[in-house]
Amino acid sequence: MAILDVYLYGAPILRKKTNPVTDLPPDFERILNDMFETMYDDDGIGLAANQVGLDMKFFIADFGLRDKSLGREVFLNPEIIFASGAVEDEEGCLSLPNIRERVVRAEVITLRYENLARQVKEIELRDFLARVVQHEVDHLNGIFFTDRVTPLRRSFLKSKLRHLAKQASLGLHAKDIK
Ligand SMILES: [Zn+2]
Repeated sequence: MAILDVYLYGAPILRKKTNPVTDLPPDFERILNDMFETMYDDDGIGLAANQVGLDMKFFIADFGLRDKSLGREVFLNPEIIFASGAVEDEEGCLSLPNIRERVVRAEVITLRYENLARQVKEIELRDFLARVVQHEVDHLNGIFFTDRVTPLRRSFLKSKLRHLAKQASLGLHAKDIK
């Protein structure tokens, strides 16, 4: 297994809508293993494919880190088909090192996705896990959590984000920023 490069805010792959997953590539299992290792290495609970440079609409998550009755899962072609309520909490992101902001998210969501066996599943999630999923689905649509903060907070973040984008344009990755 290998630790993958996590792309930084400003990298073009993180600003586009990812392509739906059709056929799985032959080395997909290796890709997933590397993604999980990368996520754990950075103490993340979720990781979107485009964060490691893959233009594919899927993310991984390990809900077991939060809820022992759940486990790790791969979410192919995820869509949030229902959302309700609104809760504010702090978020961070492997692609935005050293930035944490309060973000309003739906409290309860229903997620439709395909699992690795390509079965269509629907799960209901609330609170923290619903937040994780909304954050990852946003990534797959080219959206960062910093896009969802108040205009005032965004103005405070402006120079930090510009700095990150500069690093990204130089070909640096999250591991290069400390
Ligand atoms: Zn993120």
